[in-house]
Amino acid sequence: RSVSGRSSSLLSSIDRFRSFSSGSTPITATLFPGDGIGPEIAVAVKKVFSTAEVPIEWEEHYVGETVDNRTNSFLTLESLESVRRNKVGLKGPMATPIGKGHRSLNLTLRKELGLYANVRPCYSLPGYKTRYDGVNLVTIRENTEGEYSGLEHQVVKGVVESIKIITRQASLRVAEYAFHYAVANGRKRVSAIHKANIMRKTDGLFLKCCREVAEKYPEIAYEEVIIDNCCMMLVKNPTLFDVLVMPNLYGDIISDLCAGLIGGLGLTPSCNIGEDGIALAEAVHGSAPDIAGKNLANPTALLLSGVSMLRHLEMNDKADQIHKAVLNTISEGKFLTGDLGGNASTTDFTKAVCNHL
Ligand code: NAD
Repeated sequence: RSVSGRSSSLLSSIDRFRSFSSGSTPITATLFPGDGIGPEIAVAVKKVFSTAEVPIEWEEHYVGETVDNRTNSFLTLESLESVRRNKVGLKGPMATPIGKGHRSLNLTLRKELGLYANVRPCYSLPGYKTRYDGVNLVTIRENTEGEYSGLEHQVVKGVVESIKIITRQASLRVAEYAFHYAVANGRKRVSAIHKANIMRKTDGLFLKCCREVAEKYPEIAYEEVIIDNCCMMLVKNPTLFDVLVMPNLYGDIISDLCAGLIGGLGLTPSCNIGEDGIALAEAVHGSAPDIAGKNLANPTALLLSGVSMLRHLEMNDKADQIHKAVLNTISEGKFLTGDLGGNASTTDFTKAVCNHL
């Protein structure tokens, strides 16, 4: 599916917003509070959105307690249908047991909803000092295949095999999205991150697709960087990068590295772009079981994911208002959560954001 196809199918949710503006019903969005710290930070988002009078009604789905045989996972069919119907949603983190059980909720969502690109912006927050200044990059991760295709099995006792799938279709689709994103957001360069020197066939095909797409966008500079070198460059000077596009596993790892550059996982939002104009925003971080239920989590990443959902709906005024309130709360530095070196609770931080609206 081409990006132009994506843009036109997006119209359905934007049209619904326009019909709200002209006096009819608010937009309905799906909300997955998720596991661990998910429900606490979802409450924070709901509080900030309602204080800012965002015209969104949440359709909440708590998933993960029992297996739904219709989806062969803990994700219910009703929750999938909710996202398909609403076309927009916000997702809290979902825990995945290591090495056992049914299909991961995250993988099921990505597969079932065709969430082909995961967009993870990462920028230095004004007033919050880390070792790096001026970070402003975006990782775009292929979200449906690679090592995360779920094809693992035992060959013989003591030998297991995991199959990495790379397809031309998925690679072209994510590359096309990366270049489209670069143009739409005034970015100058796309770097394809790979290990094609070793993974000649799989990453080789990924690169070939990136090159093909790059030719259609002469106004955007294009380069290819081997992933190990990319890690070194990112920690030495992250301002060298602009938009990075890469296969699934690399994107998962590199985006956490990038989160570390600007202050940690509590700060970094993301948005999953799917087929038929679906956008499911989510924080980059997981369910943080070490701090779950303690009112300690930083809700910034989920709040900023909510902001990206609002931008997707072209509710830019509300998005700007909430974005500014979050940044001002952090730069003021009075109510920082533990991950940012403060001792404010999730609720203290949320109140402070509401006061800045
Ligand atoms: P994690 O992201 O949950 O936690 C890593 C560290 O970052 C922990 O110390 C945690 O306390 C901290 N942290 C994360 N988010 C924070 C926040 N908002 N505020 C303050 N501190 C925060 O990673 P993990 O521990 O490796 O994974 C836990 C579970 O989450 C696993 O089951 C994993 O599969 C799942 N997971 C889910 C997603 C997702 O739903 N998209 C993403 C990553 C991990």
